[in-house]
Amino acid sequence: MTRCLDCGSQRSSDQCPVCGLTSAAAELVFRRRLVLQTAIFLAGSLLFPYLSQLYPPLDLDVMLVFFGLIFFVALTLVVLLDRQARAHKDIEVLRHLFTGLIPIPFILSVALLLNGRLDSVKNVTYHPTSVEGRYLMRGIVRGTRRLFVYSWREGRRYERLAVDSDDYDRFHEGDKINVGEEPGALGIPWFYGVYRATQPHVSMPPDATMHAGKAQASPSAPQK
Ligand SMILES: [Zn+2]
Repeated sequence: MTRCLDCGSQRSSDQCPVCGLTSAAAELVFRRRLVLQTAIFLAGSLLFPYLSQLYPPLDLDVMLVFFGLIFFVALTLVVLLDRQARAHKDIEVLRHLFTGLIPIPFILSVALLLNGRLDSVKNVTYHPTSVEGRYLMRGIVRGTRRLFVYSWREGRRYERLAVDSDDYDRFHEGDKINVGEEPGALGIPWFYGVYRATQPHVSMPPDATMHAGKAQASPSAPQK
């Protein structure tokens, strides 16, 4: 008993009783679909590292490693599917695994976009810390730039901030900085921005200074 490569139903004759395709036709349809699905997955895999930098989570590097594993597994499944189909072996389990992985880069991208987009600037908290190291890997589209700073989060020693090229060039080891962090609409804390601390713990980023100015302009405002 073999299964139809197109629809997966069992068949005993060459023609599938459900979709009506012969085994040769079903293999052709299967192969075309596999190419299309692989293309969609690859497109998502190119998109995810790019979109994840718009509202970069603090744990971006962990997520990129996790996604790298998914990417590797998916491409392995494509190779296995192709081989098994050629050998006319059962592919149902592999097929389901692969189909399940295709939407993951899109789901992750949308989650990170919503997490940052739906978050309010009012939620930014600033943490004084200092630059302990920098990391640069040049890429074709945009490179990977990180500032390593001492972490303010419990159980962590360092944060790896996904900065843009301006901030990467602006800050160097030993610089005192304030790091803006947002909690994330979906609960994934993300990196809002990095600001130079001219005087330790006193200097404030631009919008925080604005708040301070407003408070001074209306002295009757209740003080916390
Ligand atoms: Zn069929």
